[in-house]
Amino acid sequence: MKKTTSCPKCNSKEWVKGKLKPKGTALEIKFDDESFLKLSNQKIEVYACKNCGFIELYMAEKSKEKE
Ligand SMILES: [Zn+2]
Repeated sequence: MKKTTSCPKCNSKEWVKGKLKPKGTALEIKFDDESFLKLSNQKIEVYACKNCGFIELYMAEKSKEKE
């Protein structure tokens, strides 16, 4: 949805853009290559389809870091 104007899953144009804002407990993603992404340290752009519920997440700044 960032690169296209419609949802890649259902082709709906009813979607919203936002930001992921962690509150309280830190969230992190563990990737299969053993790297971590601390969501609390990242600006995450969120694109959510209102029709089917599909959500795209983009890191707004620098990529994932090893730990
Ligand atoms: Zn959709």
